[in-house]
Amino acid sequence: MPELPEVEVIARGLRARLVGHVLENVRLLRRDVLWRRIPDFENKLEGRRAAAVVRRGKYLLLRLSGGLTLLVHLGMTGRLWLADEAEPPAPHTHFRAGLAGLPLELRLRDPRRFGGMDLFSTAREAGHPRLVRVAPDPFQMPAPEFAERIRARHAPIKAVLLNHSVVGGLGNIYADESLWAARIHPLARADMLKRPRLVALHGALLAVLERAIAFGGSSISDFVDHLGAPGYFQNEHRVYGRAGRPCPRCGRTLARAIVAQRGTTFCPRCQRLATARDSHQLSE
Ligand SMILES: [Zn+2]
Repeated sequence: MPELPEVEVIARGLRARLVGHVLENVRLLRRDVLWRRIPDFENKLEGRRAAAVVRRGKYLLLRLSGGLTLLVHLGMTGRLWLADEAEPPAPHTHFRAGLAGLPLELRLRDPRRFGGMDLFSTAREAGHPRLVRVAPDPFQMPAPEFAERIRARHAPIKAVLLNHSVVGGLGNIYADESLWAARIHPLARADMLKRPRLVALHGALLAVLERAIAFGGSSISDFVDHLGAPGYFQNEHRVYGRAGRPCPRCGRTLARAIVAQRGTTFCPRCQRLATARDSHQLSE
């Protein structure tokens, strides 16, 4: 599933290549890709210029001339990229928009269709029902605010990191990687973690996310960027998907657990629970 770094890679790519260009020949091939019925969807987009590309959590916002915003979520398997217009659309391509004067097409493909789109007035962006629920992401909140938000939750730290109303943009990969980097057990109770450890976790998150963006994201479940190229951060994962292999820091075999219904990899030596009392699982 694309997380913050993957969506950021697409946002930066589209910002560089799409902004300033006019959409034409817009085609919606599956209407249920829209979260609600939008009469005249294609005509509303036709002839509008891409003015800005913004990321909010894992959402992409394409702001268009004339005060409209196209909101896109890539779900589990969504791709939004600029394809060569001569290239036949792959199966599960749900949306296509040509760019005036360029041999390129903006295409949305989503085989599993957990993603979706909406189109609305840019003035209504802040109050959009999906966007109001998304908390600021780690780049948008200073470490003390991050620590306060986390400490307000009586739940395992991993579950809190995955909760988008607490921190935006994170999923399984970057939760596991940052907890390992900060040496915090995924089942540690959020409200039992001391502030300095949460400040360290915030720093670890920024470092992991920045590196992931620099590597073009993680290409798990076929993520590709705005030009259809894969990322390389999956080769840099320290723990995610590596259960049973040695911890890159101490050599101990990495363990797997289920936390918040998600497969979780951690190092039993580097990421200890200080006492049984600190564990959500053991205290419940
Ligand atoms: Zn270790």
